[in-house]
Amino acid sequence: MKLVLLGAPGAGKGTQAKKLIEKFTIPQISTGDLLRAAVAAESELGQEAKSFMDKGELVPDSVVLGMVEERLGQDDCAQGYILDGFPRNTAQAEALDAMLAELGMELDSALSVEVPLEDLMKRLTGRRTCRDCGQMYNIYFNAPAEEGKCDKCGGALFQRDDDREETIRKRLEVYNEQTAPLIDYYSGKGILKSVEGTGDIEGIFANVCATLGL
Ligand code: ADP
Ligand code: AMP
Repeated sequence: MKLVLLGAPGAGKGTQAKKLIEKFTIPQISTGDLLRAAVAAESELGQEAKSFMDKGELVPDSVVLGMVEERLGQDDCAQGYILDGFPRNTAQAEALDAMLAELGMELDSALSVEVPLEDLMKRLTGRRTCRDCGQMYNIYFNAPAEEGKCDKCGGALFQRDDDREETIRKRLEVYNEQTAPLIDYYSGKGILKSVEGTGDIEGIFANVCATLGL
């Protein structure tokens, strides 16, 4: 399975990706996670990326494309992968097509996870993530059993720097302007599928699997 997950920030792409990789043992490639790891490591790339991320803007394509190309070339991607948060604009989508052609790979599907705009703010301000295993929670919708502690591994939960109201507004604007057009891009290629992203997480996952024919 070679899949692109599309959807606004907070639509639940990461949540569904984690369930897919558990079931199908293929890697999730989240450019947001890769960039946050680079920021935490204080690498040159991370330092360049941070100023854009803090403002809710896209990190320059040159930075992201190199990172994705390196990751896709690794052995564990040969059987498939889930691209989460990439591509984010038409230039990235075209560059991905060129990269995949070079690697002799082809995408199976682009799955759009659809959630009404008015639900996204609460999902993002309420998001908490495990520092150790990356599991996502939400203080309003799916809180951990014990506040601040991961149900799966006991790790400490943290709130992302960019999950603040004014940054979220900017990220949603960037999504509408730059990323939403990819729905037409993949529809034009005949590989677009979509799924309702509201309701309980397990029910959405069942629909995701059915929609992808898994
Ligand atoms: P994305 O990767 O698209 O930005 P996430 O998977 O991180 O989104 O989800 C954003 C927030 O919404 C998280 O706090 C997550 O726990 C929560 N969430 C995910 N799916 C649902 C759902 N179906 N209903 C309510 N909250 C959800
Ligand atoms: P995410 O974790 O997908 O919500 O991404 C968090 C932030 O990382 C975004 O607001 C961007 O600043 C940056 N980012 C993640 N993926 C990309 C990408 N494909 N292109 C450019 N910037 C990205």
